[in-house]
Amino acid sequence: SSIDWLAFSRALDKIQFIEKPKQVKRLSQDYYHFSPILQDLLADKQAKMIVQPKSEAEVITVVAACVQQNIPLTVRGAGTGNYGQCIPLEGGIVLDMSLMNKVDWFAPGVASVQPGVKLVDIDRVTRPSGWEIRMAPSTYRTATIGGFIGGGSGGIGSVTYGQLRDRGNLRAVRVVTMEDQPQVLELRGDEVYQVAHAYGTNGIITELEIPLAPAYAWAEVIVTFDDFMQAARFGQALGDADGLIKKLVTVFADPIPSYFAAFQDVIPSQSHCAFLMVSEESIAPLQELVREFQGSIVYEKSAEEASRGVAIYEYTWNHTTLHARAIDPNITYLQTLFPGDHDLNLVEHMYRHFGDEVMMHLEFMRVGGRATPAALQLLRYSTPERLQAIIQYHESQGAIIFNPHTYLLEDGGMKQVDVAQLRFKEKVDPYGLMNPGKMRAWQERWAEG
Ligand code: FAD
Repeated sequence: SSIDWLAFSRALDKIQFIEKPKQVKRLSQDYYHFSPILQDLLADKQAKMIVQPKSEAEVITVVAACVQQNIPLTVRGAGTGNYGQCIPLEGGIVLDMSLMNKVDWFAPGVASVQPGVKLVDIDRVTRPSGWEIRMAPSTYRTATIGGFIGGGSGGIGSVTYGQLRDRGNLRAVRVVTMEDQPQVLELRGDEVYQVAHAYGTNGIITELEIPLAPAYAWAEVIVTFDDFMQAARFGQALGDADGLIKKLVTVFADPIPSYFAAFQDVIPSQSHCAFLMVSEESIAPLQELVREFQGSIVYEKSAEEASRGVAIYEYTWNHTTLHARAIDPNITYLQTLFPGDHDLNLVEHMYRHFGDEVMMHLEFMRVGGRATPAALQLLRYSTPERLQAIIQYHESQGAIIFNPHTYLLEDGGMKQVDVAQLRFKEKVDPYGLMNPGKMRAWQERWAEG
């Protein structure tokens, strides 16, 4: 191409950048390899250079230099995404936001943070005053808030607060546009969804205002059951139990617990189990609920004990897949919502229908005000056709699949064009330089003419 990289690096002035091939390669990748489909599509993609701004002013300088030479720009937080969200398909630069990592201020119920701050580091600042972030992915210790908003959906905490996309879970963002003269826009309220979960295709988030939740002392508990459906019904009941304060309600079918090396002495073989985080004061009523469902508590840590050693949340959400793949790399996963399945009939049907081929892993989330089973089932992969058939069967029965085997924004979750995101992109990224190739609506608008 005709890009003058020397002129570009001069335009960066004192802004930090990396050109060493090994580092460039590493910082061009994420956790796309959980998907055998994406492995083939993305393995060889990489940027020319990694640029690491320390301030919004530096971001603006980088953007202006990219626009001048038509250089594609792909934003990166910590690169823990699972769909190649921050992998540059067309080279150019990766804009690594990890040095913009401050909590600027916080007050009861709200914090203003830079995009590159790690989720765990927000809590480190706010927890001593009794506040914490409402929800986090199981990559809580490594992921950034900008990346979570740009490419994540929910996680630990979602059983109480719903998902990121629920109104109120993101208050405001500042965004740098990719125009000849980059602008800084401030979006508030519903407007934030123009850039939230857009894979960095329509603006660089440089500041976020997020809501905070009361921070409880979270105890960790593992409960085992002889029967999977009994474990699942227990999960639903705990999700519905308004008097119990909870942060995590995960249910695993046997043999999933057998992939967790750290818990082999704790969880008897062939049992189904629930991994829970509840507030310490909720332990006594929890014990009664466990008794009602004939479960056995096999592991219990106070919040103080839980702050050391293994953290159970690092076995839940997509960490479950990580641990299973460490033992059997042929395993991949699905992401499913079972809407309106309060009696768990659809969950039970899928559990029995697929048996060991699709191992049930439920995560209870609040959806539209009700505790709802979602799943990140472990799937024994054979062929792309079989994977497709399994997805189609779920959809034909009314389960919603958020396909983790595509890097296209729309195909993963929404299944339809988000017109507001497309219109916003036309305005803020007129040359289509931001994370090119990820937004189907943008790619296809040229085809349609
Ligand atoms: P990155 O992967 O770096 O980026 C994600 C997307 O956001 C990219 O498209 C990027 O371009 C964009 N982006 C990053 N920063 C900005 C910015 N400043 N402005 C605009 N766009 C930006 N996800 C969940 O939602 N829930 C889970 O429970 C969960 N569990 C996981 C478990 C494992 C083991 C792994 C590997 C992944 C998991 N994920 C989960 C996916 C991922 O870890 C999270 O979504 C995480 O929040 C992404 O943060 P990141 O900083 O790594 O973002």
